[in-house]
Amino acid sequence: MPHLSSRITSLNEGGSDGWEVFYRARAMVAAGKRVTELTIGEHDIGTDRAILDAMHKAALAGHTGYAMVPGTPALRDAIAARVTTRTGVETARENVVVTAGGQAGLFATHIAVCAPGDTALYIDPYYATYPGTIRGASARAVAIETDAADGFLPDPARIDRIARETGARSLLLNTPNNPTGAIYPAETLQAIARVAQARDLWVISDEVYDTQIWEGEHLSPRALPGMAERTLVIGSMSKSHAMTGSRLGWIVGPQAAIEALIDLSTSTTYGVAGFIQDGAAFALAQGDAPERAVAEPFRRRRALVLGALSRQDLVRAIPSQGAMYLMLDIRATGLSGRDFAENLLDAHGIAVMPGESFGRSAAGHIRVALTVEDARLVEAIDTLCGFAARRAEAA
Ligand code: PMP
Repeated sequence: MPHLSSRITSLNEGGSDGWEVFYRARAMVAAGKRVTELTIGEHDIGTDRAILDAMHKAALAGHTGYAMVPGTPALRDAIAARVTTRTGVETARENVVVTAGGQAGLFATHIAVCAPGDTALYIDPYYATYPGTIRGASARAVAIETDAADGFLPDPARIDRIARETGARSLLLNTPNNPTGAIYPAETLQAIARVAQARDLWVISDEVYDTQIWEGEHLSPRALPGMAERTLVIGSMSKSHAMTGSRLGWIVGPQAAIEALIDLSTSTTYGVAGFIQDGAAFALAQGDAPERAVAEPFRRRRALVLGALSRQDLVRAIPSQGAMYLMLDIRATGLSGRDFAENLLDAHGIAVMPGESFGRSAAGHIRVALTVEDARLVEAIDTLCGFAARRAEAA
């Protein structure tokens, strides 16, 4: 066959080490083995029945044809109202485009702000799709590493230096963060905002975990002085409403950028299914309560896991404030995150993500998703700590 483009063959270049554990765990489950899966960010509950009923009703009422490409006016208004209330930044329908999940928004925003060959910065550790998404947009993906000792918070001075050296176009931020659970403090975001303005960067702000805040407060970089004109916010109903399969997300930004992004949607997805949009508008109309109910188990389980970890001092939790994961430092065992995860799966049927699958900064760590019921999760953490202790002794 003729060659495939480098744009597509480079998608997985150099990344995704450690996903083998995830795939192997899935294969073990399919073969009937008991595996405790603490890998990906999939809720252990389904989408709420009332939201499904709203989708069903909308579909039966005929909302099954081509939907409005930018999103239905009702949904765009609901998203704009949500963003205005939560961030204090006046946001209108014209600042919103509905996308096929946050992921489509990540890709579209990079296409929108980076010409082929431009540099796009992102923070390491990172959500696994980031480098591939950037390369897929024909941009050059440059990671900004962070240190475990700083709770994996980015250093604005390092961002400034790398932005200057690379002539970067954009900076992708994710707070609350996957995989680390960090919520970037206001001072960090203010310093980054100054860098973005000095270096004329677009900030692409992935805020899909904005309803999973356990300590402190989430601050959207778009709300900082001078930032609304250079920030594109990615939102999603996946995590907030347990709607991962509905593929419903959005981008919020300056009107001219949103108009260009609507043109892009016309050439790519041609919008999102109308009955899904109606279900999403229904869900947003219910206010905060359903979001709090979806988030609550993760808050509770995080406390349970921190309690279990406090009974030993070998496996250390990286201090974090949000999101449905905990990053654990297992360097005291002498194992890499990858070897730890592989061996833990073989020995005890517990699947976790190796830190290395999220970038170099997270080597020697593992990420645990808080996505199984409480007792089973605590049992898995106790087993994990026992395993770590035996491995440390043997080392
Ligand atoms: N950003 C981050 C940080 C994520 O963790 C995820 C999903 N795990 C996404 C974006 C994409 O989510 P979705 O496409 O389901 O909205």
